Amino acid sequence: MHEVGAAQQVVVDGVSPGEVVRAPLGPQLLGRILAEAVVAPRDLPAFDKSLRDGYAVRSQDCGCGGVVLRVVGEVAAGAAPGARVGAGECQRIYTGAPLPEGADAVIMQEEMEVIGADQVRWRGGGAVQPGQWVYPRGQEMRAGETVVPAGSRLSAATLGVLASLGQATLAVLAAPRVGIVSTGNELLELSQPWRAGKIYNSNGPMLAALLTRLPLAATDYGILPDEEAALRTGLERMLQECDVLIIAGGMSVGTYDLVPKVLRSLGLVEQVRQVRMKPGKPFLFGRCGARVVFGLPGNPVSAFVCYHLFVEPALRRMLGYAPTACVPPLRSGRLPEALVAHHDRPTYHPAVWSWPGSEAVVRPLPWSGAPDLRALLQANALLVLPAGEVRYAPGETVSWIPLEEP
Ligand code: AMP
Ligand code: MG
Repeated sequence: MHEVGAAQQVVVDGVSPGEVVRAPLGPQLLGRILAEAVVAPRDLPAFDKSLRDGYAVRSQDCGCGGVVLRVVGEVAAGAAPGARVGAGECQRIYTGAPLPEGADAVIMQEEMEVIGADQVRWRGGGAVQPGQWVYPRGQEMRAGETVVPAGSRLSAATLGVLASLGQATLAVLAAPRVGIVSTGNELLELSQPWRAGKIYNSNGPMLAALLTRLPLAATDYGILPDEEAALRTGLERMLQECDVLIIAGGMSVGTYDLVPKVLRSLGLVEQVRQVRMKPGKPFLFGRCGARVVFGLPGNPVSAFVCYHLFVEPALRRMLGYAPTACVPPLRSGRLPEALVAHHDRPTYHPAVWSWPGSEAVVRPLPWSGAPDLRALLQANALLVLPAGEVRYAPGETVSWIPLEEP
């Protein structure tokens, strides 16, 4: 039996980042890892560009207000720069348009008075500075400069920057294809009417929802019964179609807990079998050939806790995140009230954390154990309690794990 920390190490070390693939730049790449550095193909902006609607002028012509200039043309955003601006001349210009040759500054239209068909007078006071209201060529980046290094996690801003460079496709690390399946003769699909002795499959929808936090494609394969032949057929199909299998239920040692046996017949090499924790002890991790297999206990809180502690860290690693950025960090906080607990294994107790002052406060929620999923409705943290008897005074320091990014 593994300790939690050791099991986390085994799962993160037991998987590796995906291969390099090319994919179209789009929102589906949010959170993925860039595999190759992207270099600016040209200066950005690629031309001196107006920051205002107004008039492109030669600053030396505009030493003080009252100057009259001849309007010799117009240049709008997207247009090629037009005629040259000569002495005593200007051109109508709009935000985003390239500055015409000869001009070195823009005067806002609010500061110009139209005094004839092609004449304007500058109302302003002091001298116009060269570069006024001009976003100069190469201000953001120079051609040949590395703008986004390999290994970067793609954020919305990164995708925006790469789009501004015209990168239609990106080299990224492949995301694993994940399959989820829930096992148990007692399980009903949500489309089925309730019958005595049955329960609805809550693990499937819960795990599928948790997986949407990661940039990968997950398929819910529904329910498999506690029957060897059906389990074998179902799991074989998943092994063909998925890189990662998440199987919930049937992991313990009861007569109907057939999943480990069936997986072994499909070539499972076990790397973790049981973890000294509560809930979640019957957790299993291993490989069938190149496929990564997670076996989660069927009790919904057990499945939820094992997902956070083991499955998500491994998937983050497979997506290419640094090993240190995979496992959820253990934080410290204070208990608002006294707490007495006695657990035979380290326990992950649903809790609420807040930041009322200068440090975190973490309050355990009423919770009756592994089947009690309702306790998670309010939870945003797991309070980590050591094995054995603990007697905490109010304000004592404890460890906890956030369930969402603080
Ligand atoms: P097992 O791990 O298969 O021994 O199941 C442990 C407990 O979790 C049993 O009470 C099951 O009925 C329950 N359970 C198993 N799978 C699910 C599921 N998909 N949704 C909700 N409860 C489940
Ligand atoms: Mg079962």
